[in-house]
Amino acid sequence: MEYSPERQNPIIEEAEDSERLRTLYQVTSMLKQVEADGLDINLILLRILDMAVNQLNAAEGSIIVVNEAGQVEHIWLSDDKARDLLSNIFLQNILRTGVAGQVINNQQPIVINNTQDDEHWLPRPGHITSLEPWSVICVPFLVRNRAIGAITIHKPGFAQFDDHDLNLLTAISNQAASTIENARLFEQSQRQLQIAALLNEASRVINSSLDIDEIMHTLLAHMNEFLNAEAISIALVDNATNELVYQVAEGVGAQEIVGLRLPSNEGLSGWVMEHGEAALVSDTSRDSRFNKTGDEMTGYATHAMICAPMEFKGQVLGTIQAINPVAGVFSEQDLGLLVNLANIASTAIANAQQFAQIQVAEARYTSLFQDSVDPIILTDLQGEIVEANQCTFSFLGYGRDTLLDLFIHDLHPDLGKLPQLSSISNNEPTVFQSELVNKEGAAIPVEVYVKRMEYGENDLLQWIHHDISKQVELEQMRDDLTAMLFHDLQGPLGNIISSLELLSYELPEVEPGSSQYEMLDIARRSSQRLQALIRSLLDITHLEAGHPINEQKPVNINPLVDDVYEAERPNFEQRRVKFVKALEPDLPPVYVAEDMIRRVLINLVNNALKYSPGDKTITVKAQRADDDGHLLISVQDEGIGIPEEYRETIFLKFERVDRGDPTSKGLGLGLAFCRLAVEAHDGRIWVQDAPGGGSLFQFTLPVAGDR
Ligand code: ADP
Repeated sequence: MEYSPERQNPIIEEAEDSERLRTLYQVTSMLKQVEADGLDINLILLRILDMAVNQLNAAEGSIIVVNEAGQVEHIWLSDDKARDLLSNIFLQNILRTGVAGQVINNQQPIVINNTQDDEHWLPRPGHITSLEPWSVICVPFLVRNRAIGAITIHKPGFAQFDDHDLNLLTAISNQAASTIENARLFEQSQRQLQIAALLNEASRVINSSLDIDEIMHTLLAHMNEFLNAEAISIALVDNATNELVYQVAEGVGAQEIVGLRLPSNEGLSGWVMEHGEAALVSDTSRDSRFNKTGDEMTGYATHAMICAPMEFKGQVLGTIQAINPVAGVFSEQDLGLLVNLANIASTAIANAQQFAQIQVAEARYTSLFQDSVDPIILTDLQGEIVEANQCTFSFLGYGRDTLLDLFIHDLHPDLGKLPQLSSISNNEPTVFQSELVNKEGAAIPVEVYVKRMEYGENDLLQWIHHDISKQVELEQMRDDLTAMLFHDLQGPLGNIISSLELLSYELPEVEPGSSQYEMLDIARRSSQRLQALIRSLLDITHLEAGHPINEQKPVNINPLVDDVYEAERPNFEQRRVKFVKALEPDLPPVYVAEDMIRRVLINLVNNALKYSPGDKTITVKAQRADDDGHLLISVQDEGIGIPEEYRETIFLKFERVDRGDPTSKGLGLGLAFCRLAVEAHDGRIWVQDAPGGGSLFQFTLPVAGDR
C-alpha cells in the first residue's frame, strides 16, 4: 500500500516538528562526522540504519543501495550475520517484486501494517517477520530524481507506524541520500583508480616477463583483491586433446583445481570458449550452461561464477574464471574487470607460448645442427659466414674464428656454380653440385642445399653440404671403363669393315641385286652404323668431360649434306620418303669437326625418317643466321612431331618421348650427342613444330671466315 500522509492535530504536530528538527540535527551532525571520517559507505549505512531504527523505536531494519544499472550494490542489515545468508536470487526478487523494489521503482514510500498478509512482503527464509505479524516502513533514498536505494524498518505487531514515523524516516532518508551517493561515487572512483593501477601493474609484469606461470600467478593474485572471490583460476586449451587444463588457481581448493582437465566444449567455460564471450552466472543451479563435473572432481561447490575468454588473433587460448563472490553477488563491473584482465593476459600468454615454442624449436634445431654428419654453414644474405656446426670445422680443418672471418664464396672456388644469394627462397631449397675447398686447398665434391630461414630478427642462409666424393669417384670409374670399352671396340669393328670391303673386291662375280650382294651390303652398312654409334658415344664422354674439340677446319655444308643423303639413301628409298635440299646460294664454309657434324646431320635425318610415315618429304635447309657469324641449318619432316613438354628433355641423355609404344627402338642418345656436339662448336640446337606439321630441328654453326 502506498502511503499518503493526512493532516493531524496541530498541537501534537508542533511537538512532533520540534522532535523531528532535533532528529534531523542529529542526523546532520552524524553525517558530517562520517564524511569527515573518510566517506566509508559501510560506516554510513550502519550509522543511518542504527539512527533510523532508534528514532522510530523499531526493532531492526535494512538498507539496499543499487547502481545505475539497477543492480544491488550494497546491502546492510541490522543483523549483520544474516547478510551472508541472503542469496542472489532473493536479492533479485526483492528488487523485482519486493517492498524495497517497489519503493525504488516508484520512488514512493510504503507502509505495511501486517507483514503476514502483504503480497509485497517476501518471506525471508527463517526471519521472524515472516512468522509473526510485523509492521514495516520503507522509504526511498532520492538523489536528483533517481532512487539510489531504500531503507526498510521493521517493528513487531500490527500497524506500528504512523504519519509521524513516515515523515521522520523520509526526512532522515532525504538528509542521508546525498551522503550515500557521494560515498558510493567515491567508492566507485577509488575502485576505478585501483583497477587502473591493477591493470597497469599487470601490464608491467606481463611486459617484463616471458615466464607464463609467473605472469598468470601475478595476475590472479592482484585480481582477487578486487573480485573478492572464493577462488579464481586460469585454464588454457590443450589443442592435442581439446581439453581445458587449469594452470593456476588462487583461493579455496586451489590445489585441487590446478592440473584439472575438462573437455573444452562442456560447461560454462566451454560455452565461453565456443562463443568467445564472457558470462556471468549468479546462480549455477539455474543455468543450464553450468555443469558439475569440475565440482565433482574438486569436491567444492560453485554457486556463482564469472568467466571470460582469453583471445588472441581470433583464437581462444583459454578462459579465466572466478567463483563464489565473498560479497554474495558478482556485478557487471566484476565481469568487466575480468574481461579487461583476460585481454591483457591473452596477449601475454600468447607471447609466452610462442616464446616457449620458439625455444623448443630452437633447441631442436641446435641439436640437429650440431649432431648433423653434414657440414652446415649459416651465412647472412651477403654470404658472410656467421655460424657453422661442429662437423664443418673437422671437414674443412678451419678453427671457428678463422671460418667466421670468411665468406661462403671463399669455400666454393667455382663461383659460377653458386646461385644468386638474393634469389634463394625459404620454401624450396636450391640444390646444386659444387666443390668445397678445405684449408689444405683440396676440393671436395659436394651437393649443396641452400635455404633461406628466419633467425630472430634477421634472415640467414643455411648451406648444407653433402659430401659426394665417393659417388663422383664411382661415376668417374664407370665412365672411364665405358670409354675404354668403346675405344677397344673400334679396332675389331674397323677390321670387320675393312674385311667386308675387301671381300666385295675379292668376289667380283657377286652382282648388285643378287642375294649375296644384298647380304654383304647389309653387313657393311650395319657395321658402319655401329661404328658411327661408337664414335658418338666416345664423343659424348669426351665432350661431357669438357674436353675441347680438335680437328676443326673450314667445311662446305653443301657436299656434307650430299654425303648424308648418300649414306641414308637406301633408307629413303625403302620408305619412299622424298629428300629436298634447300641451301641458300653462296654459303660460306663453317668451321667444324667435319665427321662430328656429319654425324649430327645423320642423326637428325635418321630421326626424321624413323618418326615419319612413308610418302612424306624431309627437307634440309641452310642459310645465314641473323647474326651473320653463324649458319642456320634445319632438318624438317612431316612426321608425328614432338609434344611441347618434351622439347627440352629430348636433348638429355637417355630421355625419349614416352608414346606408350614399347616396340619403339632407340637409346635416347642421338639428340644428346647432337646438343653436345653443336654446343662444343659454340652453336645452339632446338626443335619446334614444322609449319605443315611434323618437327623442325634447327642448329647454328660458326662461319669459317672469322677464324
Ligand atoms: P632415340 O631416337 O634413340 O630414341 P634421340 O635422342 O635421337 O633418341 O631422340 C629422342 C626422342 O626424341 C626420340 O625417342 C623420339 O621420341 C623423339 N624424336 C627425335 N626426333 C624426332 C622427330 N623427327 N620426330 C618425332 N620425334 C622425334
